Amino acid sequence: MSAPKRYTITAALPYTNGPIHIGHLAGVYVPADIYARYLRLIGKDVAYICGSDEHGVAIPMRAKKEGVSPQDIIDKYHGIIKQSFVDFGISFDNYSRTSSEVHHETASQFFTKLHDNGDFIEETSAQLYDAEANQFLADRFVVGTCPKCSFEESYGDQCENCGTSHNANDLINPTSAITGNIPTVKETKHWFLPLNKHEDFLRKWILEDHKKDWKPNVYGQVKSWIADGLRPRAVTRDLDWGIPVPLMDAKEKVLYVWFDAPIGYISSTKEWAAREGKNWEDYWKKDDTKLVHFIGKDNIVFHCIIFPAMLKAHGDYILPDNVPANEFLNLEGNKLSTSKNWAVWLHEYLEEFPDQQDVLRYTLTANAPENKDNDFTWKDFQAKNNNELVAIFGNFINRVVVLTNKYYDGIIPAPSDFSEIDEDALAAVKEFPNTIGKSIERYRFREASQEFMNLARLGNKYLADEEPWKVIKIDEARVQTIMYVALQISAALAVLSEPFLPFTSAKLKKILNIDKNLSWGNIAENAVLLPETHQINKAELLFSKIEDKAIEAQIEKLAATKIANKQENKIVAPQKEIIEFEDFTKLDIRVGTILEAQKVAKTKKLLKLKVDVGMDTRTIVSGIAESFSPEAIIGQQVAVLVNLATRKIRGVESQGMILMTDTPDGKLAFVQPEKEVKNGQAIS
Ligand SMILES: [Zn+2]
Repeated sequence: MSAPKRYTITAALPYTNGPIHIGHLAGVYVPADIYARYLRLIGKDVAYICGSDEHGVAIPMRAKKEGVSPQDIIDKYHGIIKQSFVDFGISFDNYSRTSSEVHHETASQFFTKLHDNGDFIEETSAQLYDAEANQFLADRFVVGTCPKCSFEESYGDQCENCGTSHNANDLINPTSAITGNIPTVKETKHWFLPLNKHEDFLRKWILEDHKKDWKPNVYGQVKSWIADGLRPRAVTRDLDWGIPVPLMDAKEKVLYVWFDAPIGYISSTKEWAAREGKNWEDYWKKDDTKLVHFIGKDNIVFHCIIFPAMLKAHGDYILPDNVPANEFLNLEGNKLSTSKNWAVWLHEYLEEFPDQQDVLRYTLTANAPENKDNDFTWKDFQAKNNNELVAIFGNFINRVVVLTNKYYDGIIPAPSDFSEIDEDALAAVKEFPNTIGKSIERYRFREASQEFMNLARLGNKYLADEEPWKVIKIDEARVQTIMYVALQISAALAVLSEPFLPFTSAKLKKILNIDKNLSWGNIAENAVLLPETHQINKAELLFSKIEDKAIEAQIEKLAATKIANKQENKIVAPQKEIIEFEDFTKLDIRVGTILEAQKVAKTKKLLKLKVDVGMDTRTIVSGIAESFSPEAIIGQQVAVLVNLATRKIRGVESQGMILMTDTPDGKLAFVQPEKEVKNGQAIS
């Protein structure tokens, strides 16, 4: 492509079934953000687009498990995720959600157009079915052995182990993820996208035209799928969660989430364009627009095969110029896992390292899993902060600003003749915008961040070699020149740091009192960035040392998670010692009905209950407030140990105990009679 007129940059739509962790940030959002910020700094027209995916099958799965509605889960995590992006300076031009009207409309129209073109195959076939749950099983609703790699916990649409995408019927030994039942089969009609028909186009477009510019990990995966042969993929599902299929004969069917999710990029662009007074079609349908999808490696098949096939079939869309997918980031040697809580959650990080977003952005970039899986360790995080951000970048800036204030009251001094060393330093600075930019444009963000740090190194070394604090005693004029040069390097750092360290860049611009918009290009032109007589502000630390104690606390936290996971894996607690029947008969356990419930003031866990236990109505204090709201439990029948000696709990006399058990997610559950029985009935 000759120089593009505009850029459409998409970042994978996060599922709203959990918060965001460092793996997401390192794999997708930080690299995409560096790319978008850089392009804006060189004056390009950019739409950086994202939004919440609210139709992921993991959402109704989690809702079912937690006994809440999918909407409850979505609203909770959409808010948390969106806030994390703001907190970490991810500069989306638009962050939408797939529940929006514009998205439902766009996805429906897209489907209808392909349907009317005759791009789908309609087929009634036997699909996996769970009679007990009264539901067809696809995607995450079914697990079984992957036909390709024999991984035993593959999902119905994709194997998390080898990345292969398949149909649910391909699984060996499938079981329902809802009930654990072995599925039966039942006939149902679906619409299929015949990927095999697009094979020739995909082969030419990727394997020939993008042989040189796509990352080897992405190119290699696509090549192997095409070599295996592409098959029709169902783009509809028998589910009650998602966008309804816009056809009369498709009642109670929805679009496959991977059909609608990538269209979410288009809808989010529409939303942005409407707000900004732009034409969204310029960003999706013009050949001089460069479309780039940032994703993790588990999404390659959808962005390199399925979505391009959809766009091509539609006819008027451009195709991605690149899909620079990253590999996975591990944490302290283990795979990141939401369910095992093996993660550094962004909202928790900020509580523990307030205002240190840039330290995480920098560490994740310097250590990004660009070509292979990589490991995040807290020791490395500390080293990157203390040895690079503090000792090199922070130290240089601090010395420059402190000395400028001390010698010249913060006013940039006039230089006299430049020495060869000064000339070399200024000439070297001029090269950095180009070097860093080239790395970014090739999606080599680690390399780019190291180049940036090399500029800080150059500044630090210049100052250490020239020693203005010594020279000041013998040659004041020379010190003016040294400080002038050092200040120009500082200004270059303020601009060139922005893609990587946006918060630090803003802080440094404030310290240096850079009010006009210095551009990336100004530095390459070797312009005077900070003219003599310009006034700067007082010094402020850009970074602070992270002590061993803070790092040890994080490592201990992970160790505790490991222990907790191990304990959870223990199936049941060991049996207690044997008792005689007579011992058991001492317990008088009755059925009772909860008549009233209220929170005990100034406590988190306690509810004060009035319970009808047949012989009387009594007060019982129970530690269940974190699992139940008072109004939700009134009228419930429960098991009550009635002959327990009364105890005073928070000043309230408790006359008995409600029997409880734990659910796997750490909540409490009542032990209840299966049918309604009379209050006071003995449990024996
Ligand atoms: Zn597999």
